[in-house]
Amino acid sequence: MKKFFLLLSVFMTLLFSLTASAEKIQSHRTMEKQHNSNPYYSRTDTTKLNLPDAVWKKVLSPEVYATARQKKTELSFSGKFWDYTGKGTYYCAACGNALFRSDAKFASTCGWPSFFEEVRKSSVTYLPDRSHGMVRTEVLCGRCGAHLGHLFDDGPPPTGKRFCMNSVVLDFVPDRQGAK
Ligand code: FE
Repeated sequence: MKKFFLLLSVFMTLLFSLTASAEKIQSHRTMEKQHNSNPYYSRTDTTKLNLPDAVWKKVLSPEVYATARQKKTELSFSGKFWDYTGKGTYYCAACGNALFRSDAKFASTCGWPSFFEEVRKSSVTYLPDRSHGMVRTEVLCGRCGAHLGHLFDDGPPPTGKRFCMNSVVLDFVPDRQGAK
């Protein structure tokens, strides 16, 4: 009987790890598939993109388009990254521009992925936003101009900034194991 439970637990562990890696491959494939139809996506090319919405509509998924080009805010606590703690880099889901490092991510109670600094100064640009009866600073991708979220001054040290982002316009690429 003991042997049976031992075998069962080995089998369950194996099944669990197989399912987990299949899910990982699947999500990677979904990301790749999305980018295959987007010729402007590059994680190395930093040339600025100035494309009309009609072009973006053709190459982005409806979800990414709604936030990136139509400034839709995802519901708090609904996105895939608000409480994610993986080590790696976050890129613009519309164009592949490097935006944030996981080291600059902090646990925020707001329900959106929050960072205290960008990867490099040119990663993002800013615009004053007076919509919804508030005065806020809109954060846009420095390469393609996609709407990413807003910037607030209530973040943690060392910057005191809080980049409050929408998960849907972020791609996460984990650091290679063993690499720094
Ligand atoms: Fe972008």
